Amino acid sequence: LVVPDFKDFCNRLQILFNEVKANVSHTAGKNADYIPKLAQISPNYFGMSVCTIDGQRFQLGDANIEFSVQSCCKPLTYCFALEEHGEEKVHKHIGREPSGVAFNSICLNSKDRPHNPMINAGAIMACSLIKPKEPIYERFQYVNEQLSKMSGGLKWGFSNIVYQSEKMHADRNFCLGYMMQGKKAFPPGTNLHDTLDFYFQCCSLETDCNKLAIAGATLANMGECPTTGMKVLKSRTCRDSLSLMYSCGLYDYSGEWAFKVGIPAKSGVSGSIYAVIPDFGCISIYSPPLDSIGNSVRGVEFFTRLVDEFIFHNFDSL
Ligand code: GLN
Repeated sequence: LVVPDFKDFCNRLQILFNEVKANVSHTAGKNADYIPKLAQISPNYFGMSVCTIDGQRFQLGDANIEFSVQSCCKPLTYCFALEEHGEEKVHKHIGREPSGVAFNSICLNSKDRPHNPMINAGAIMACSLIKPKEPIYERFQYVNEQLSKMSGGLKWGFSNIVYQSEKMHADRNFCLGYMMQGKKAFPPGTNLHDTLDFYFQCCSLETDCNKLAIAGATLANMGECPTTGMKVLKSRTCRDSLSLMYSCGLYDYSGEWAFKVGIPAKSGVSGSIYAVIPDFGCISIYSPPLDSIGNSVRGVEFFTRLVDEFIFHNFDSL
């Protein structure tokens, strides 16, 4: 067993969770409000889920509440692009450096490519690489099925309300798309509007802490889902995605996160963060209020305290 005394581990997680709940008010941050639907969600939701690479699971609070996956999908859609094309081709279109600016910033790197797949421009590019010859419904179905395989067969939902409002408030993403099209950054034959539509659909998928924890544990387990034993991704794909989660997963807090928390992770505007500890598993948090950078306030606090309590930081073993 990866965690021999799982009960004790869970008790310590519970204490941490309660401490964060008691010490960090849900008014310390603010829900995302770039689309009305996210602003309306209760800021009180607070959930946590853990899944180890040998399939031990534990959840706390609102771990079953479904939320919009948003940017937490980015490392996963990047994986699917890698599986299909390999690292070399994918990175002809996307860089591997942190951008140092906000996730939706209107900027490209010095080669006129998106900085990395963990921010909007790079995630739009990754979407353009997933089954590009198929109609969007097939591409969406494929992503949905792969996500489900990564989450132990649990189905992910889809919010049409979020999707519609995403499309209505998409000026920046359209701007990024046109900028990349103008720079001929997309693979030849890419239909920009289809690509953006597919990206909005991926953002509007619905998940919960439990599914995210299992999907993350699949990454931690070199692509084999711990609850079903199904090999979903190549080990190399997981390595690549985790490397960029480590350097770029928390928007323009990524450097601070790598230093302080030292675990590959990804955050999303719904207020979720999942952190993937290789050879251990994944822990996911959901708490909607965000800090000024766009990361869940309680989420960042939870993981900061987690590495004080456990030796999960990448360099703790030194
Ligand atoms: N749908 C959001 C956008 O494209 C996703 C961003 C996020 O979670 N940071 O703006």
